[in-house]
Amino acid sequence: MSNDKLTRRRFLKATAAGVIAVPLTAGTLPVRAQEPVALSEDDATAKALGYKADAGAVDAGKYANYKAGQDCGNCLQYKAVDDAQGTCAIFPGKLVAKAGWCQVWVKGG
Ligand code: SF4
Repeated sequence: MSNDKLTRRRFLKATAAGVIAVPLTAGTLPVRAQEPVALSEDDATAKALGYKADAGAVDAGKYANYKAGQDCGNCLQYKAVDDAQGTCAIFPGKLVAKAGWCQVWVKGG
């Protein structure tokens, strides 16, 4: 048997094993981290912290610490994902609205 045939045989064996191994391992591969989803105002933590997707809808009577001009977009906890939303350290795995607000707002830099 020549080296060329041996190499070809090894290649074909490796390829066949790869084709078979992929479907077998597909269900056992580590799952990628889930993409963050938009935070709902109905989320229990969001409700507890008075989160509103539109800071203009905040009940200023109920949340005396709310001041006009405060929103997620200028909060320390906010990291923009796009022009309208971003992640928030208070709500891991969720996206908050840039125009949103909750009672743990802290002025960002
Ligand atoms: Fe928005 Fe800041 Fe509250 Fe997060 S902590 S929801 S960024 S105001």
